[in-house]
This record gives sequence, C-alpha cells and structure tokens, in this order.
Amino acid sequence: MKHRNQVFDNVLDLVGKTPLIKLNKIASEFEGNFFAKVESFNPGNSSKDRIALYIIEQAEKKGILKPGDTIIETTSGNTGFSIAMVSIIKGYECVLAVSSKSSADKIDMLKTMGAKVYVCPAHVSADDPRSYYQVAKRLHEEMKGSVYINQYFNQLNIDAHYNSTGPEIWKQTEGKITHLVACSGTGGTISGTAKYLKEQNPDVKIIGVDAFGSVIKKYHETREFDEKEIYPYRIEGLGKNLIPSATDFDIIDEFVKVTDEDSAHTARMIAKEEGLFVGYTSGAAMQAIKQLGEQGTFKKDDTVVVIFPDHGSRYMSKIYSDKWMNEQGFFDSVNVEAAQNIEY
Ligand code: PMP
Repeated sequence: MKHRNQVFDNVLDLVGKTPLIKLNKIASEFEGNFFAKVESFNPGNSSKDRIALYIIEQAEKKGILKPGDTIIETTSGNTGFSIAMVSIIKGYECVLAVSSKSSADKIDMLKTMGAKVYVCPAHVSADDPRSYYQVAKRLHEEMKGSVYINQYFNQLNIDAHYNSTGPEIWKQTEGKITHLVACSGTGGTISGTAKYLKEQNPDVKIIGVDAFGSVIKKYHETREFDEKEIYPYRIEGLGKNLIPSATDFDIIDEFVKVTDEDSAHTARMIAKEEGLFVGYTSGAAMQAIKQLGEQGTFKKDDTVVVIFPDHGSRYMSKIYSDKWMNEQGFFDSVNVEAAQNIEY
C-alpha cells in the first residue's frame, strides 16, 4: 500500500494498514503496555472494509462476480457500508438485509452509499423467515447473478484478517504482543488475527469479548448451544444468537462477558481519556481489559493489543446521546442535565 501523502487511484487503496496507538491513560492503573488497533482509520471507518474488499476480490479471481452483478449480505451496518463502498468503485449492485437493532444513522448511511436496504426484526430466531439471515438467503435465491457474502459462515472472513490484521499487529508490535483482546461477532477478526499471531508465537493469549445475552462464551466453554443464554441486549456487532462457522473456537483461549452499561461508559471514557472517538464495541473490548486488569491478568512487560472495530460517529443517537443513556437507565438516578456534566 502507498503512504498516506501519496495520490491514490481510488478509496479502496486505503483499506487496511491502520495505526496501532498507545493507550496512555485508560488502563494506566494496570501493569502492562496497552495499544489499540484503531480500525476507524479504514476509509469506511471500520474493520469490515478488510473483509468486504478481500471477499469480493476473491470472488472476482474465481470468476464468480461479473460487473453489474448483485452482492447480498446480512449486516449490523459496518459490513454493509464496506460492501456498498467496494460495490460503488467496482460497479456492483449492493443489497443488504439489516437488523432493526441497527441505528438509524447506519441505515441512512447505507442508503446514501447506494445500497438497497431491507430492515428485519432483531428479536426473532435465526431460522424465522423474517430474520435477516432468511431474508438474505431468499433474496439470493430469487436474484439471478447474485453473490451472498454470508460473513458468519464464510471462511474468507477469517482469511481476510489472517492476511492483513494479523501480520500488521505482529509487525507493529515487533513480535512483542502477549495478549490480543477482540470482540467476537462473526468471529472473523479474532479468529484470523489469532491464527496468524499464534503461528508466529503460540504463547500469545487470545481473549474474546462477548455480550450478556449471547451464546458464544458458553459455547466456547461447553461446546453446547444453550438457548437460555440468549436474551436481548443493546450492543451492536458483538455476540450472537447462533454459532458462526467464521469463529474458530479452538484458537481462542477465553471469553469475557461485558454489560451494555459498562461498555457504553467505557466507550465514553476512551474519548475523554485518549481522544479516540470509537464505537460501542470498542468500549466493550476496553471494558474486558478493565475486568481482566482488575483480576491481575496483565504483567509489567506484557504487550496487550485491543481492537477498536469502528468509529464513534455511528453511535451519536445511542451511547453518545445523553438522552439515550438516560433512557436506558445508564445514568441511574442522575437527571439528563446533571448527566451532561458527568465526570468520567
Ligand atoms: N464491532 C463491530 C462494531 C462490528 O460491527 C463487528 C462485526 N459484527 C464486530 C465488532 C465483530 O467483528 P467480527 O464480526 O469480525 O467478529
């Protein structure tokens, strides 16, 4: 990839090669050195640019995609945005089935990027015909010349991170990384990055972050699908009500669960303490570090890398809205006016 001060052929030239930024304050109470892989530096403002570009280019190489074809996907927003961006540059139609849990900002953005968007109910099971999985599948079957990215069940999702995020982190830490902390949605980021890192050094600890209300952590521990683990939660892009094959459970050492409330406050704290305006799951990943730090997990010479998957601008009507925070009860009994001045 070219340097940022050069001229680029198009926006896709800027995908990947995101910076690793030292966290100077937010984890300073713990032993160890903490760095964030800040994926909002991708042109589509999230880590999903990597998989969109990689998967689409692999399909082109195999002759599956031809100009004018349609690309279909289910997405909480970020993958959709990235696919829409790649589709514009490469001349494809983009059709997205998204969850009603996605923020209005995200849906508007997808439409702005030329995508056709189907909004599907969030709190139905994956095999319900109204779920975004089933809607995408049906659209794919109905539309001739369409490609279904299927990020939850696509090995190329893992490969994208194995080929980019993993090598970048290894190089940026000069091989010193001891812990990787990453949210798991499809599991592509953590699985692909972990695979590369463990090949370089099998001792690197891989820590996944899961939501209360998701089955992932329990499945990792028992290899059993426990429906009782599933209930609604607010964080978008983290955890799941099904077991994605894009998650390599064997490569992940442990999962940490975080709450909606803690993750929201921690995201706000990242902005206040590090000047990094990041998304809800970045708050979740940092919250996991705090919980681990409090248990004394990290030692003085450890190099801990946390992945911040996307940018804060996508959550203005949610975690960065005092009104929303108050409505969720995240400010407890604090009134909105007082909450605006809350010190983190
Ligand atoms: N954070 C956000 C905001 C996301 O959209 C996603 C993807 N669903 C993730 C984290 C998790 O990444 P992955 O799907 O690679 O596990």
